[in-house]
Formats: sequence, C-alpha cells, structure tokens
Amino acid sequence: VAGTVVGVPGLVGGDGLVRSAPNLGWRDVDVAGALDPQGKGPAVRVDNEANLAALAELHAHPASSASPLAGSPGMAPSFVYVSGEIGVGAGIVLDGRLLRGARGYGGEIGHVTINPDGPRCRCGSHGCLETYTNQELLLSSAELPPSTTDDPLVRLVQQADSGSAPVLAALERAGTALGIAAADVVNLVDVDTVVLGGIYAQLAPWLAGPVTREITARTVTSAWAPVTVRPAAVGTMATVVGGAGSVVRQILDAPATWLARTAS
Ligand SMILES: [Zn+2]
Repeated sequence: VAGTVVGVPGLVGGDGLVRSAPNLGWRDVDVAGALDPQGKGPAVRVDNEANLAALAELHAHPASSASPLAGSPGMAPSFVYVSGEIGVGAGIVLDGRLLRGARGYGGEIGHVTINPDGPRCRCGSHGCLETYTNQELLLSSAELPPSTTDDPLVRLVQQADSGSAPVLAALERAGTALGIAAADVVNLVDVDTVVLGGIYAQLAPWLAGPVTREITARTVTSAWAPVTVRPAAVGTMATVVGGAGSVVRQILDAPATWLARTAS
C-alpha cells in the first residue's frame, strides 16, 4: 500500500485536522491519528472530498499530460468543480493547480451568500448557496413513493425527464443559485469552466442552462471570455479516483522520499 487518503465532506485544515463536518456531526477530529494511532502504517492523509474530486477532474483533463504547458496562463486547465452531495463543496483549479487557500480551507462555495435575508444555513449564516441547492431539497421536490427502494436521484432524473413541474422548478431555482455563486468565482479568479459534479453531473441537462444564463448576466468579462458549463468527466467515484491519483502523483514527484520510507 503506497498511501491512504480519506475524503471528508467538511473543513479540513492544512494540518489534516477535520475542523468541522456538520453532516457527520464531527468537530476537531484527527482522522489520520484515529486510523493509525501508532503512526506505523503508510501515511494517512485527510482532504476535503470536493478537492479530491477536482483533482480527479484535473488529472483526467487532456492538457494535464502536457506538462511543458503547466503553469502557463490559458494553457493549463482552470475550472471550478462544484460538487453537489448532502452539502455543496467546490475545488478551484487555476492554471493546473488546486487552489487551497492560506489555511487550506478554500473552495467553500456552499457558503457563498446568495441572499442575505435567505433561509438559515447550518453554518449559522443566512441564504448560503447550500440552502438553495442541497440534495435533500432537490430530492424532496420529486414525488417519491414513501417505501420506494429506487435510487431517489434516478427518480428525480426520471421526473425531470417527464416534465414534472415541481421538479423542474426546483432545478431552475438550484441552477440559478449555482450560477450566481459560480459568477462570483469567475469574477474573482477567472476560471473558464464550471464543472458540475456529484449529483449535479446527472442533473446537468437542467442545471447548465440557468447556470450559464446567470454567469453570462453577472460576469464583467462575459462578452470576451465565455465560460463553459459541463458535467464532470469523472463519474460518481471522483473523490476516490482523486485520492488514489494524489498518492501516485506524490510518489512520482518525490520517488526518493517514498523509496526511503518503504525501505525503513
Ligand atoms: Zn452556510
């Protein structure tokens, strides 16, 4: 085993501590220490799940293999990967590099304010993106039989396909909110692509329209620098693929370090 990476839906600092994962009820949890208290096994690294998914998308990008171009503005991939799960997260990639922020907490798009007077969010603020686009809200718009064993997301897609008015209205609201938040990201860091990941990938046929509309209306550069909105290239296992890929990349970047560790 070359390494272990744990993807967590929450705030993971640069020190690997999970500061907050509200949907798991975690606060200040040392996941790596709990998994390997003696520190004898292969290194355990903890990362935010949307960051790992964004890394998977980055590694799958055709330009990523063109290493001489990496770091050249406009040549290496720049995108925001928005991941819809129980909460909403994002990984921002600029010129082929994941933008983590000064303390490692970057990419919390789910808590970008859409409406200061909006519903209270579990983070304590009001009107965050997550309060308009969370999975529970979207799934509750579909008329699911109470005892169904079907995948609720499949049912949601089926009902959107068949033109269910409440489902289409919920997707329009979610897409509009996503577009408003994505426009902020485009205005701030000039990504050229918005990748819809997690449950948003399957909902992209209904979300991409309102997302594109809001970005076009709200970005100052839209006349010269259009933004592509597309579903994720890597599927539902993106966090796992990104975690595994990051271990392999770490070894390729510093093979001597890895060889020294395995020899000891
Ligand atoms: Zn919030």
